[in-house]
Amino acid sequence: MGKVMERRRHPTDEALEKKKPFRKKVCKFCLDRVERVDYRDALRLAKFTSERGKILPRRVSGTCAHHQRQLSKAIKRARVIALSPFSAT
Ligand SMILES: [Zn+2]
Repeated sequence: MGKVMERRRHPTDEALEKKKPFRKKVCKFCLDRVERVDYRDALRLAKFTSERGKILPRRVSGTCAHHQRQLSKAIKRARVIALSPFSAT
């Protein structure tokens, strides 16, 4: 019987094609031309921490290396003076 089986493509081929289009992340601090990340600006810092109070990684927030360094220091400083939480339980 000459039943021709259509060859299924490898599932990963489709997965690769359905990948969502690449969106360029831009550093919010660079956009606002922030030179020094203010540790007293708790509201702004809160946007760069997870729900549990952890600092968001660069790959998530899109912050540039320069500002991420400042940001992490600012968040740690803000924690010490109790402006932002060490952890949320
Ligand atoms: Zn930046």
